Amino acid sequence: MGPGWWRACLATGAVAVLGYFALPGGAQATAYAAFGLVSGLLVVLGSWRAPAGPRRGWRLVAVAQVLWSVADGLEGYHAVQGVEPGVSWADAAYLGGYVTMFAALVVFAVHVHRQADVRAALLDSATLTVGAGLLAWQLLVQPGFTPDREGVLASVVSASYPMVDVALLGAVGVVAAVVPRQVSTTGWYRLLAAAISLLLVTDSAYRVLTLSGSYRTGDLVDAGWLVSYVLVAAAALHPSARRDPSGAPRSAGGERGGARFTRSRLAVLMLALLCAPIALFVQDTVQRDQHSDLAVVVACVLLFGILVVRLGGLFFAAQDDRARLEVQARTDHLTGLANRSWLSESFGRAVVDPDSYPLAVLVVDLDRFKDINDTFGHAVGDSVLVEVGGRVSAAVGPGDLIARTGGDEFAVLAPRTSTVAAAEDLGRRVRAALGEPVAVAGLSLLSEGSVGVAWAPGPGSDAVALLRHADVALHVAKAHPAGVLSYRPDHERGTVERMTLLGELQRALAHGELVLHYQPQVALSTGRTTGVEALLRWQHPTRGLLGPETFLEAAEQTGLITALTRTVLDMAARQARAWCDEGRPLSVSVNLSSRNLRDTTLVDDVRAALSTHGLRPSLLVLEITETSVMNDPERSLRVLTRLRNMGIRLSVDDYGTGYSSLAYLQRLPIAQLKIDKSFVTNLTTRPGDAAIVQSTIELAQRLDLDVVAEGVEDAAVLEQLRAWGCPTAQGYHLGRPTPAHDLAR
Ligand code: C2E
Ligand code: CA
Ligand code: CA
Repeated sequence: MGPGWWRACLATGAVAVLGYFALPGGAQATAYAAFGLVSGLLVVLGSWRAPAGPRRGWRLVAVAQVLWSVADGLEGYHAVQGVEPGVSWADAAYLGGYVTMFAALVVFAVHVHRQADVRAALLDSATLTVGAGLLAWQLLVQPGFTPDREGVLASVVSASYPMVDVALLGAVGVVAAVVPRQVSTTGWYRLLAAAISLLLVTDSAYRVLTLSGSYRTGDLVDAGWLVSYVLVAAAALHPSARRDPSGAPRSAGGERGGARFTRSRLAVLMLALLCAPIALFVQDTVQRDQHSDLAVVVACVLLFGILVVRLGGLFFAAQDDRARLEVQARTDHLTGLANRSWLSESFGRAVVDPDSYPLAVLVVDLDRFKDINDTFGHAVGDSVLVEVGGRVSAAVGPGDLIARTGGDEFAVLAPRTSTVAAAEDLGRRVRAALGEPVAVAGLSLLSEGSVGVAWAPGPGSDAVALLRHADVALHVAKAHPAGVLSYRPDHERGTVERMTLLGELQRALAHGELVLHYQPQVALSTGRTTGVEALLRWQHPTRGLLGPETFLEAAEQTGLITALTRTVLDMAARQARAWCDEGRPLSVSVNLSSRNLRDTTLVDDVRAALSTHGLRPSLLVLEITETSVMNDPERSLRVLTRLRNMGIRLSVDDYGTGYSSLAYLQRLPIAQLKIDKSFVTNLTTRPGDAAIVQSTIELAQRLDLDVVAEGVEDAAVLEQLRAWGCPTAQGYHLGRPTPAHDLAR
């Protein structure tokens, strides 16, 4: 039933309750019985739409309503007849209704409880039941309990009403403690709890009124029962009753959440505990009963016992929580492997434990993970990491600890690895496991990795040193074809040098110590310089002018090349623009590293350099080598196509030294071939070189590609090239690389 309909029904119920009081006394009894009947029927109606689990509960609720309405009918009949039997079938029906309602709540609780802390729920509800039970006993049962006057059965039956009410309240308490908190799934339950609480209040009021002999049919008290009927029907028809509460998501804390106290739960429990002193107070002052009552003592002992058990549970839950948090703090959330702090902890223990020696440490780093992340997004990257973590785990032994120590870095701690060779074997197994392509989101990604190995006993065996050694070995391994290396002290030297170099290079970038020299490219038909190649130099403060061979490799290996290329592009574009402004437009060729082609920022950096200096794209040439394209042909092709579409010309550098065929290169969006100097410099004395150069010139021209012959060191070579129709040449004979201001001369 939709919310609109539901509200309409509720309004009808409210009107019916008001109508009841407008009826003449005779009709009231009939109308009264009709309430329960209608409520029962509506509950049956609602139960149809309820999920299978709670449906049985709703059917029991319907039976309870009908039983009560039968009892109401019998009572009405007695009233009309003017008889007042002490105990009658009406009592049986009423009490049967209570028992059925209790069973219904048990069914609800059982269905809803999944994942909740049932023990805590039962204990809390027991506290509530004992507290309320004691008060009910003290205030409602005991004062009117007069078996000698009424007869045992009659007094027991009438005394049992408050007590079954209390039992119902306890059952409501259990459901309250296990039901999920979301209002969207529990509207029905709140209404039902309200109906039963109202029943409790009304029954209590009724008991007080009958004890003082002042109850009459049609009293305001009747409204309590009637509204309770309406509320029960409203609960069964409530939209939330159609959803399955056991399927609702739990509030944070899940299973153990129930053991903790919410604010409202704590309040209810405090009130329940207060019942004992209140009962004592009532007994001593209001009822002026001198001898203390066994019920109060029993209730206090019970409450105390329950409280002790409950607090014990809370204590253990807190301990569990702490243990879980500790594990969590030491685990990598993504892969479920150990994290860095767990690793160093185990490491610290292992290095002082003689049993773990000989001890191997492996550090694993994925070679191209950043690319995967950049190209396919973090979700794919995460999946790759999870897969890789699993593979590393599968590749190592059962006693080894695997940790994820950084973005794409893993470490393995392998105690009792007999030899260095065994440690390297382990490293190779790990690397081989990584080499298989990873299938993620319909992609097949290559996730190669390098492995650094350190082994103890060896040079420097404390945990910090071992880890660092593995790291050093890893760095060397990255540049090594095997991809797996174990640490040797002489690795250290290179690393230290490289680290200093890198630090200096970073500073050089920031301080503008990097400069470009320009080497002319001459058109052989006219003898005029049509372009220049920009060649990087480092004006080192102490070591003088350094060539690219001293620092380029380190920059490439560490990713500093991205910033470096950005700087070169900017300087070259600025210079080209300056020549334009002087009325001498020269094209400028800039060299790209293979790593640049895998950079996501390259295209943006090129565009920025052009627009910053307002340079025509046709004046910029980007030189790439065949091998750098072959590293990742698809990716490179995409980048190169974007650059070409910007109007930039692409040139294949060192042509002839790679393995790619011209047939393959022709598929790239290139405009120029640079024949490598190793074929050019000696072409007049080596017939083989001459053949290669001449045929390349011819073929390129047929493919409509520009050709630059590099390494022209003398006039004879120049003449030969001109004779073969080579369009452009570059070399020491035509001009050495020089600073821009010297070039003019
Ligand atoms: P490359 O692209 O092949 O550049 C040509 C190299 O040959 C230059 O060396 C140049 O000085 C040298 N050369 C020029 N004419 C002659 C000649 O007639 N005979 C001989 N034997 N050599 C000649 P350089 O400047 O030391 O550059 C070396 C390499 O460094 C370049 O080779 C290029 O691959 C790289 N490189 C230079 N600048 C950059 C740059 O800005 N970025 C990148 N990524 N690489 C650069
Ligand atoms: Ca070049
Ligand atoms: Ca070259």
